[in-house]
Amino acid sequence: MHSRFKGKVRLSLLSAIAEEARNAAASLADYVGGAGLRLGVTGLSRAGKTVFITALIHNLTQGGRLPVFRVLAEGRLTSARLEPQPDDQIPRFAYEEHLAALTGAERIWPQSTRRISELRLTLEYASRRGWGSKARTLTLDIVDYPGEWLLDLPLLTKSYPQWSRETLEASASAARAPLAQDWRGFLAMLPADARASEDTARKASDLFTAYLRAARADQFALSTLPPGRFLMPGDLEGSPALTFSPLLPEAGEAREGTLAAMMERRFEAYKRHVVQPFFRDHFSRLDRQIVLVDALSALNSGPAAVRDLETALADVLLAFRAGRGSFFASVFRPKIDRILFAATKADHLHHVSHDRLEAILRLLVERALARAEGLGALTDVIALAAVRATREAAVKHGGQTLEAIVGTPLKGETLDGEVFDGESEAAVFPGELPADARAVFRGEGLAMPEAEAAMRFLRFRPPRAVFGADGRLQPLPHIRLDRALEFLLGDRVG
Ligand code: GDP
Repeated sequence: MHSRFKGKVRLSLLSAIAEEARNAAASLADYVGGAGLRLGVTGLSRAGKTVFITALIHNLTQGGRLPVFRVLAEGRLTSARLEPQPDDQIPRFAYEEHLAALTGAERIWPQSTRRISELRLTLEYASRRGWGSKARTLTLDIVDYPGEWLLDLPLLTKSYPQWSRETLEASASAARAPLAQDWRGFLAMLPADARASEDTARKASDLFTAYLRAARADQFALSTLPPGRFLMPGDLEGSPALTFSPLLPEAGEAREGTLAAMMERRFEAYKRHVVQPFFRDHFSRLDRQIVLVDALSALNSGPAAVRDLETALADVLLAFRAGRGSFFASVFRPKIDRILFAATKADHLHHVSHDRLEAILRLLVERALARAEGLGALTDVIALAAVRATREAAVKHGGQTLEAIVGTPLKGETLDGEVFDGESEAAVFPGELPADARAVFRGEGLAMPEAEAAMRFLRFRPPRAVFGADGRLQPLPHIRLDRALEFLLGDRVG
């Protein structure tokens, strides 16, 4: 027994060393011929990842207006071009498709992120450092992945019975219980010592997934619970690795041939074949990270949603500090040295509120960070719109001049009883965010009645594409995209 245990330890150590060597070789091969940087783009579903990456690539490759991005402002960027996708096992980010959706005749928002994807850009620039202006190259790999996957990290330290117990406890809370009713009802009907059955496993897992989905779609946007792939399955949709569920303690012990043993085996397989490889092969290779946050939607839904967003952020932050001397160091070791938190869709607000949105996100991140022990990385916070769908205008209203934003509301959006057709423009008066960010956490939310606030956050169509005299598509308008780029890349193209 004793020697078997020792043998196991040695084996896992050896495979860990082999793994590291493999990772090192991969990143070396990636970067031969110039400096390389892997930039992770993440955020929960609908946070704005796809739109952000598409806008970033378009602005970089088409000479967008990016005055705060110094390498461009100083005229040192000589070229930015797309390269063939370097990693055979990761799908390419569908940039051309997404751009066509945004700027084609239909003017629609692109298909959101559903799985990991990647794209490589090469930036050629003249360095400010050294003698003369030496030509340099930065190979930038942009990696898009669902934030839901980060929430899986704590599972690695949990046994099936522990995870089962905690997940069931959470589902009994007042907000969740109604959503979990069908699933829990099904579990309660299972006999003690139920036999292993694919059919039962699938039913339990379907109902469990439906509960997790309902909790996320709920108007209070309850924080997302793991397993992350149940909400964002990527390529694993319908696979056995995702066909499991917690069971009530009455299900009995996990003995050979029981449903409990089957569930436990699948839970362990999920950790080993899904969670670990993601952190080891993808997450640990990232150098920089931007975390996109749809803070406006949370503010719009009220204080409960804001508190929930804070919890989700704290959960995400766990992944960034993990590996720094913790249990997880044996699985992966992150090397991320800069993290930018970005509140997206700032074009829904007048510019006076952009700094306020930033202040609110800063407070949210700080509160979430207080629960972590520091990240060991440089962090910053920004409010941005990767694609600006509105413009500002002063509108006279009852003898007063009001600051409005103008855009084309999506078909079906309503305001004051008017239903928009997706073609005509409208001027709306967005609510002002409170000057004191802390007001948001005292439960005041937006500085106006909630019903009104919900009404005023219309969703807009992407802006009309603009073509230059040469017939070329002009770079997409944005808000503060250049500031984000300067924080994420500035020092590497200095
Ligand atoms: P993902 O799930 O993180 O990939 O999210 P997407 O990038 O697909 O964005 C989700 C939705 O948010 C889009 O379909 C748009 O409706 C909206 N959105 C994202 N970015 C912006 C932005 O910069 N401005 C505006 N007005 N809407 C945005």
